[in-house]
Amino acid sequence: MKYIRKILDLNKAIKNEQNLGFVPTMGGIHNGHISLITKSKKRCKKTLVSIFVNPKQFNNKKDYKTYPRNINKDLKILRKNKVDYVFIPTVSEIYTKKKTNTFKLLKSQKILCAKKRKGHFEGVLRVMNRFIGLISPKFIFMGEKDFQQFFLIKKFFENKYKTRIILCKTIRDNKKVALSSRNFLLSKKDLNTAGIITKQLIKLKLKIDKNKRKTKHLILDTKKNLIRTFDIKIEYLEARNKDNLKQNIYKKKYKLFLAYYINKIRLIDNF
Ligand code: AMP
Repeated sequence: MKYIRKILDLNKAIKNEQNLGFVPTMGGIHNGHISLITKSKKRCKKTLVSIFVNPKQFNNKKDYKTYPRNINKDLKILRKNKVDYVFIPTVSEIYTKKKTNTFKLLKSQKILCAKKRKGHFEGVLRVMNRFIGLISPKFIFMGEKDFQQFFLIKKFFENKYKTRIILCKTIRDNKKVALSSRNFLLSKKDLNTAGIITKQLIKLKLKIDKNKRKTKHLILDTKKNLIRTFDIKIEYLEARNKDNLKQNIYKKKYKLFLAYYINKIRLIDNF
C-alpha cells in the first residue's frame, strides 16, 4: 500500500492508472468503509482511499474538532484490506491559495441535511470536485447511509466528469445501527438506544408501505413516541421519493430519512 500525503506524489503515483476505484472517507475506518473498498477492488484494477476530515463541510467547529481521528489504526486496517493507495492530504494541500471551485445548491435541494446543516453539502461538493479533478477515478464508491450526499454528488458531477458514482448498501451492526465513525463517540447504552430507534424506524417503514395515505400521521406518531421514550432530539424524520427526493411518495419508491441527536452526537440513517 502506497501512503501519499502530497499532491505532487499523488500525480506521480497514479499517472498511469486507467481503472482506478476511489473511496473517499473522513477516516475512523469501519466495516462500512471496508464494504466500499471490497466493491472497488472487485470492479477496478486499483483502489485509492482518501482520508480527509474536510473543514469546509462542518457547520460546527466543535464537531470538526471532536470528529474521531486515528490515522495509525486506519492505516493498519487499510493495509490489511490490501488497498493500493491511501491519500491523506493536509488542509493546505487541498485548499491552496489558488481559489478552488465553489458550488451552490438550488432552493429545491435545500432539504433534509442541507436545510439543517448550512453550508455542509457546499463543502462536500467543493472537496469532491477537488478530489475528482486530482484523481480522475473511473468509479467512486459511496454509501447509501449518506444517500443525500450520493444524490447531490451524482447530480453535480456525473455530467461534468467521466467518473461514475456507485451506491453501496448500508452496513449495520448486530443491533441494526448503521456503522458510522461517529458511533465511536457513543457509549454502549447510547448504541443500544440507537438500535431500538432503528428497529422502530424499520417497523414504521413497513406500516407506511401498507398505508401510504397515512404517512404523515404515522411519522408524527413515531416521532412523538421516540421523543417521549428516549432522551433524543429529532432533527428530521421525513419520507421522500427515492428518485428525486421530492415529498410525493404516493405510488413511488421512497425512503424514510432520519437525523437525530443522542447525547449531542448527531446520527443519520435512511430506510
Ligand atoms: P465518511 O467517512 O463517514 O465520510 O464516509 C465515507 C464513505 O463511507 C461515504 O460514502 C459513506 O456513505 C460511506 N459509509 C459510511 N458509513 C457506511 C455504512 N455503514 N455502510 C456503507 N457505507 C458507509
